[in-house]
Amino acid sequence: MAAKNQYSFFKNVEKSFDKASVFTTWDNGILQQIKQCNSVYQMRFPIKRENGEIVTLEAYRVQHSHHKTPCKGGIRFSNAVNQDEVMALAALMTYKCAIVNVPFGGAKGGIKISPRDYTPYELEKITRRYTAELIKKNFIGPGIDVPAPDYGTGEREMAWILDTYVAMHPAEIDAAGCVTGKPVTQGGVRGRKEATGLGVFYGLTEICNMPTLMEKVGLPIGVKGKRVCVQGMGNVGYHSALFFQQAGAIIVGIAEYEGAIYNDEGLDVERVWLHRQKTKSILDFPGSKNFEKSSDALEMDCDILIPAALENVINGENAGRIRAKIIGEAANGPLSAEADDILNPKGVLIVPDMYLNAGGVTVSYFEWLKNLSHVRYGRLEKRFTENMNLHIVNQLEELTGKTISTVEKDFIMHGADEVDLVRSGLEETMTAATREIVDIWQKTPAIPDMRTAAYVCAINKVATSYAELGIFP
Ligand code: GLU
Repeated sequence: MAAKNQYSFFKNVEKSFDKASVFTTWDNGILQQIKQCNSVYQMRFPIKRENGEIVTLEAYRVQHSHHKTPCKGGIRFSNAVNQDEVMALAALMTYKCAIVNVPFGGAKGGIKISPRDYTPYELEKITRRYTAELIKKNFIGPGIDVPAPDYGTGEREMAWILDTYVAMHPAEIDAAGCVTGKPVTQGGVRGRKEATGLGVFYGLTEICNMPTLMEKVGLPIGVKGKRVCVQGMGNVGYHSALFFQQAGAIIVGIAEYEGAIYNDEGLDVERVWLHRQKTKSILDFPGSKNFEKSSDALEMDCDILIPAALENVINGENAGRIRAKIIGEAANGPLSAEADDILNPKGVLIVPDMYLNAGGVTVSYFEWLKNLSHVRYGRLEKRFTENMNLHIVNQLEELTGKTISTVEKDFIMHGADEVDLVRSGLEETMTAATREIVDIWQKTPAIPDMRTAAYVCAINKVATSYAELGIFP
């Protein structure tokens, strides 16, 4: 068992890649090219804090692959940021984009800070300075590399990045496409905020509706009634939990960094969220049992466990104690290779991060397209669709002599808004990707697990794209 300080996230990703590459027919040279990180930019810059203190910060942007451009991937603010982590996350972005057919190369960025330790004013200064560093080295732009939110960042930081970029590129007509995950008022797209969580829900729903997989794990078909535990109540964890609850699943456990809560009868996600806003802690939520350690949530009794925070939370040390039958990796890299080796033989179905949490980048793609087209989704066709639907409804009533209820009429007539189109594109993407990966897995019985099948899918797509570019004749 690897000690925690020996853990290399990038090596873990490489290990999974190698495990999968034996199920492909690509030349070793091609596989090596795909595996490497193409560009690694490490930077240090000083920031003067509000109290006058000067601190030097460590930050990164890694572009893993240029087989398609722009590169794409989030920026995280976390004390755990280091070069190995950002490289691993950038690699995962390449594979993730390939699987969901989003035409980007993978990238990732990070600043080694805990945002809780800085004031909003300081965070703005840091974000703007980081953006300026990226601009200086040509590491950002709508056709070059497009950042997005990740752990510790959100709409606010994306708006700062946009503003800094626009200030330095005043005449660039497509400048809004230099970053995604922006507020809607700043060129963002409706539905981006909840996209990763909703994508996790769509992906797992498709899994739960597959009779062969449910038979394998010994659970009934469907999401309804499934007992779900979510680790991390950030944007991804919160929305995943919310969509599962709305679909009739029972959220039995929720964890945050101060601890975890459990209730066999189900926790109301919205109320837990409000409780945490009010008391600054998830603990002591009425009717639930407290767990002092956040990691205890991972070992709770449940059907589906959704780790939605950081990497390596399930590793060689605790994997043996996991009781869930399905693990949906909403975070990037929450399971180490040792954890995979312990859980797979036990028959636990691990639904891998690099496709399951692809909802964020999928909707980022929609946002980028919106920015390049300079028009809101639905703007042109909404009224036309509604007029046509009204006409059909009137004809139906006239021809049958029956009246359609107002509720039904409103539903039929409704023309798609931006959020409807974004969600429909997301559902289609996640469902198709799930089927594609499961298909690869089932067609080659020697492929041992779903993660390996996902890597096979990704490797084949990236390699094909290189081959089509003529790089590997
Ligand atoms: N940070 C998210 C991820 O890891 C989103 C990336 C993006 O939208 O570019 O997938």
